[in-house]
Amino acid sequence: MEGNAFEDGCGGHDKDNHKDKADRATNELVMDQRTRMILLKMISRGIVSEVHGAISTGKEANVYGAVMDPLDGSRPIQRAIKIYKTAILVFKDREKYVTGEHRFKRGANKKNNREMVKQWAEKEFRNLKRLHSAGIACPEPLELKSHVLVMEFLGDKRGYAYPRLRDATLPDEGTENPWRAPYIQLLGIMRCLFRVCNLVHADLSEYNILYNKSKLYIIDVSQSVEHEHPRALEFLRMDIKNVGDFFRRQGVDTLQDRAIYDFITA
Ligand code: ATP
Ligand code: MN
Repeated sequence: MEGNAFEDGCGGHDKDNHKDKADRATNELVMDQRTRMILLKMISRGIVSEVHGAISTGKEANVYGAVMDPLDGSRPIQRAIKIYKTAILVFKDREKYVTGEHRFKRGANKKNNREMVKQWAEKEFRNLKRLHSAGIACPEPLELKSHVLVMEFLGDKRGYAYPRLRDATLPDEGTENPWRAPYIQLLGIMRCLFRVCNLVHADLSEYNILYNKSKLYIIDVSQSVEHEHPRALEFLRMDIKNVGDFFRRQGVDTLQDRAIYDFITA
């Protein structure tokens, strides 16, 4: 199986880095049996046709590029696959988000960890659905099986993912600070997220927003919580602070955190 579906290092990665990235991709493609089985089934059901190299290898999850070849021979469609890790190390951080939402007893055993990870993946899937139906730009969630989530690929035709807001280069029109418009856009998104989706992102920052052509895309919503979560408002304040800090560093004349909090919740 590694020889076929997973052989391709990375569609759309730059040539200079090709060897490095291919090596890393190969490493990251060492998946456990369950994960490979899930991917194989997805391939046989035509949800994806090829799984490419890692777009991102993180603490909690890896994100892979993938391609789906439509049966009617029309142009291949890019997809992204987020595969959550089941290793024990990543669990501590997550605890605070699931407090009060326990559906099973925790313990450091493999089976419980898998259940936990499944729950995060499911949360991300459901939260993405909420965002998507509220009209917030985000990857459209397409398929979920256990800890494997298939979604719309946010990137260009060559397979390059859109940059994170942190890495984005904004066109400078000369008159106004180019970061001002995205800042205002983001405040609107946060408000909609809160009031329409009933959610607080809870890890919102320039790292979890992708940018393309003046548009912001919200990603990474597995830890997002509902208003009812006991720490929802605390997480909201944290999101507001992270966002404010970032845009202040870009020289934007930002509103006070308190005013934003009222704008979002009022
Ligand atoms: P970790 O926290 O362990 O680093 P993560 O949970 O932060 O992983 P995400 O933030 O969802 O994972 O995604 C990691 C990166 O993968 C993003 O910064 C982005 O570059 C890329 N990515 C995620 N989803 C997509 C997508 N749908 N299309 C294109 N790129 C994506
Ligand atoms: Mn992230």
